[in-house]
Formats: sequence, structure tokens, C-alpha cells
Amino acid sequence: MFQTNKPRHAVAVAGETKKSGIEHFRLVAQSRFSPGDKIWMLAGEVVDVPDRYSVQVGRNDHLRPQPALPPGADDIYLWRYLTPSCNPNTQVIGRTLVALAAIAPGDELTFDYNCTEYEMATPFQCRCGWCAGATIRGFKHLGVAERERRRGSAAPYLWQLLADEDDALENAERHEFVSV
Ligand SMILES: [Zn+2]
Repeated sequence: MFQTNKPRHAVAVAGETKKSGIEHFRLVAQSRFSPGDKIWMLAGEVVDVPDRYSVQVGRNDHLRPQPALPPGADDIYLWRYLTPSCNPNTQVIGRTLVALAAIAPGDELTFDYNCTEYEMATPFQCRCGWCAGATIRGFKHLGVAERERRRGSAAPYLWQLLADEDDALENAERHEFVSV
């Protein structure tokens, strides 16, 4: 395991090379955080179309980190190494990474894409160890119970987008009824 940035940061990136030769990076805390503590501001470019690396931060806003930069220059974009989890220890509120649970130095930082993304650009199979290998496709695709479990942590715009879609569906049905 190696670490590429300096201890003055709240987080560090830790990397290990798998047997396959593929390097795997993850973020680890450098200090102690309590639930509700702000850990970090996420930096990036706001775009209106999600991609593989973006995180949704508003109804139509997706924050994208810079593509790979030389070592040392990319500290502010390290959030792209956050580990996906269905039982995370952080959440993204606006553009701030906030602790959801008590975090100790050395703990891996995890977050739940289903709490920020309405519809994932690139769904993936979760290997967080908490779920049974769920396919992460975004909040829109969650069942009712899975949404309710995220009542306190899913971004407010996700509930709005869902309500808008329900309204549109109702209107379509009403229209169908009237035209019969
Ligand atoms: Zn999972």
C-alpha cells in the first residue's frame, strides 16, 4: 500500500496493486470525524450530462472531476476515488462531503451513488459487502423500501425528480381517460 498525498489533508488516497496488475485506489481518512462533520468540498466542472466519473449535485447538475493529472496536482479531485457502498460512512450534501458515521484515521471513505444519482450513466454491480451485489442504477430504479431506507440521506432533488415523474404519469393517465 502507498499513499500519494500529504498528511495535511483531511483525506489521502491509498493504492494497492492487485494480483491482476490493476491498481486500485481508495480514499482513507487522515483524521477523526463525527457524524455531520464536513470533510471536504468537492471540486470539479459542472456539466448537464452525467458520465462515468461524475456525481450529481442538483436536478440537472453533475460534477465532473478533471481527468488524470500529474501526481500532486490532482489533490482536489481525489474524491473520484470514493468507494461505492450501500451502507456508507459519508454523504454528499451539495458539494460537500459530510460524515454520516464516526470515522477514524485510516478508515476507507465510502458513499452511496443511489443517494446522489437519479439515473446512473454507467450502472455497475456493487461489491460493498453490505448488499448482496446489487446493480447500482440510480435512485429512480430503487424499490419503495430501498428509497425509504435513504429518506435521511438521499439528495432532495431526487425526491423532486421522482414526484415530477409521478405527476407526468398521472397526467398522461388522466389524458387517456378523457380521450376515451
Ligand atoms: Zn452495495
